[in-house]
Amino acid sequence: MHSGDHDPESGGHDHGHHHHHGHNHDHSELDEMELRVRALESLLTEKGYIDPPALDALIETYEKQVGPRNGAAVVARAWNDPGFMKMLRDDATAAISSMNFVGRQGEHMVAVENTPGTHNMVVCTLCSCYPWPVLGLPPVWYKSPAYRSRAVIEPRSVLAEFGVTLPEGTAIKVWDSTAEVRYLVIPQRPAGTGGMSEEDLACLVTRDSMIGTGLALTPDEARAKGLLS
Ligand code: FE
Repeated sequence: MHSGDHDPESGGHDHGHHHHHGHNHDHSELDEMELRVRALESLLTEKGYIDPPALDALIETYEKQVGPRNGAAVVARAWNDPGFMKMLRDDATAAISSMNFVGRQGEHMVAVENTPGTHNMVVCTLCSCYPWPVLGLPPVWYKSPAYRSRAVIEPRSVLAEFGVTLPEGTAIKVWDSTAEVRYLVIPQRPAGTGGMSEEDLACLVTRDSMIGTGLALTPDEARAKGLLS
């Protein structure tokens, strides 16, 4: 299981951080755990115990709905409560666990806040480190070799492909997740949301806006998507 652990000095990778995963990092191949999961899934499907489309739907729900709602609640609270925003900036792990969002892959959280001058974007160049307690399961594209390499080299083009065009003067900071540190992007609060409740504000916070590949929705956009009444 440890055959893929990287030594930054050994060449091949230059990530500037240590990555201590209990899994293989060979980029395009399935690691041992993935092979076991796939074998198990095939077996269960063959026996008729699971229905792959139903399983996909379940995974998609955790990827897009259940998981990211936690992060959205954190962001909405930060927008609404300057004291909580400060706590999140100072010690995101404590702030997030104060809302009971705790668990594996969330032990050391750092919140990075978007401002008019700086946009933050998160990647794991080595594999798919992701803050599970606040975002759930990582989307497929987050784990893709293309995103992992291009997010660092040409973040502006990657953002454009996600439909995000930032002003020329906005700097883009790319954060490389590791086994030790997971990042949560605090998107900018959209204009015209002054009187909104925390619950409604959370409806504006998309998964992608917390990875930095999207922006928070405006109230009109959220209504058009049926996320806000
Ligand atoms: Fe990783």
